[in-house]
Amino acid sequence: MTLDPETATFLIAGPVRIHPRVLRAMSMPSVNHRGDYFHGVVAEIREMLPALFGAKGRQVILSGSGTAGLEAMYSSLVPPDGRTLVLTNGNFGERTDQIVRRYSTHVTTVSAPWGSPLPEATVRAELEKGDVRAVCVVHNETSVGLANDLAPLVPAIRASGALFLVDGISAVAGIPEPIDAWGIDAVVAGSQKGLAAPAGLALVHLSERAAAALHPGTFYLDLAAHVKALEKNDTPWTPAVPLFLALREALKLLMEEGLEHRLERTHRLAEASRAAVAALGLALFPDPRHASDTVTVIRNPDGLGDPELRKALEREYHVLVQGGQGALTGKIFRIGHMGIADWPDLLVTFAALERILGKAGRLPAPGRALSAIVDRMP
Ligand code: PLP
Repeated sequence: MTLDPETATFLIAGPVRIHPRVLRAMSMPSVNHRGDYFHGVVAEIREMLPALFGAKGRQVILSGSGTAGLEAMYSSLVPPDGRTLVLTNGNFGERTDQIVRRYSTHVTTVSAPWGSPLPEATVRAELEKGDVRAVCVVHNETSVGLANDLAPLVPAIRASGALFLVDGISAVAGIPEPIDAWGIDAVVAGSQKGLAAPAGLALVHLSERAAAALHPGTFYLDLAAHVKALEKNDTPWTPAVPLFLALREALKLLMEEGLEHRLERTHRLAEASRAAVAALGLALFPDPRHASDTVTVIRNPDGLGDPELRKALEREYHVLVQGGQGALTGKIFRIGHMGIADWPDLLVTFAALERILGKAGRLPAPGRALSAIVDRMP
């Protein structure tokens, strides 16, 4: 049967499935973005942002995907003079490097192989050399399913006095984002990940120190202009109004559930997925000690590429998961379980995987993956 997007199991690594309440919230006649109703929408969103980020500060809503948020953050905060340190261990880390290099000519990049932890000693040594004014890093590397534990680097970053700038696009509302505890100066969230809103908005949290350090970068994404307008529940340019309406509803759903609960559910789904992967005789791609809770990234077993596995999931079982990026295309597949993903999604996905592997004669023992999930259900 033809795939029906309304009933398919949708577990890509973002955008994620959207609750019907959020979809309905977008279906409104045009509203005046300079009128009282819309200012009220912005005010309501702003009231919920400190709970989303778990911190108070200047918080900005930008029309544009996550990358717009990154461009805003780096163009407004990466100092043109002084050194900037970029840490990379995946596709999005490499993209950070590309963006930052548009705004600074003094960039030092410290890299680990995709999916491996960051080389802490090298990062510390770079910071100790001095003159580092900003450190840029991806918290949750969606491309390889790895959550970077930045805690061990925090003392050295603080001692250096550098601004700590974090891509939290798939971290915020997916894994704990310890903004105050780690002294993060700016973090970007994407609407389409843990928040379970449609793609197209970026949210930026700024510490007071970062707000004071803003300098003009791009015109459209000038963070200082956005901070100033938002103080009056306004935006400098015409915002993506339907997405703001959707974001308000998605945030209300998140507040009803509670951020702690959402993080806990995401964590449990991740643990169940990892146990099910092991039960299928498959291997995780990233270092398992640092596996992300928002997306489980699995190596394709030998001889089973995208057509036999991921495409079969979609074609035969209407289960949508994501493939690898760049050099990992056809070598891994990624199951997202953030936002409003839930247990039935995992059961369907792993039942389908069991059947595909079984038919290929590659299943160690039938039923084990499903038991691994059921055993971990609340
Ligand atoms: N950074 C991370 C960690 C991401 O997961 C993504 C998207 O998946 C991006 C950056 C890019 O965001 P967008 O595609 O919304 O511009």
